[in-house]
Amino acid sequence: MSNKVKRDANEDGLVYKTLESIIKKAAVPVDPVEQAVNPLQQLKDKSCPSCQCAVGEAHSPGCDRERCASCGGQRISCGCSTETAGIPWAGEAHGKADCRRLGFYSKPKSSNPRDGWVTCDKNDPEAREDLNRLFSHCKWNKKTQRFELI
Ligand SMILES: [Zn+2]
Ligand SMILES: [Zn+2]
Repeated sequence: MSNKVKRDANEDGLVYKTLESIIKKAAVPVDPVEQAVNPLQQLKDKSCPSCQCAVGEAHSPGCDRERCASCGGQRISCGCSTETAGIPWAGEAHGKADCRRLGFYSKPKSSNPRDGWVTCDKNDPEAREDLNRLFSHCKWNKKTQRFELI
């Protein structure tokens, strides 16, 4: 049964990322010296905060960080079939890599958190990936397994 699901998923054009491709794309800020020592270990240490799976691994069943490969939503709440594949843990919040690719960044408006966030340049020292903009301006593309502009 599970074999059939996997085969169908592949025929559907789903791309399953290898650990190496995730590491290449992740661009996680790391200390240059540490990176030279062991880049693989650095990312492997970024295990899922909820289920503790390593980068590139599947989450434990029911993990609240697991994303659905079909709709890009939270797998435990998206409403897709339970047979739908989950996306392996990438070492950071889902969508951050897409924010970097699309240049979506924001920073706090002021030192008061109630003031909210404002769009900014990626070179701003306070720049963070703008997931709100990503989710409101982009749609999950099942074939490419990333968020694309609507
Ligand atoms: Zn997890
Ligand atoms: Zn889904």
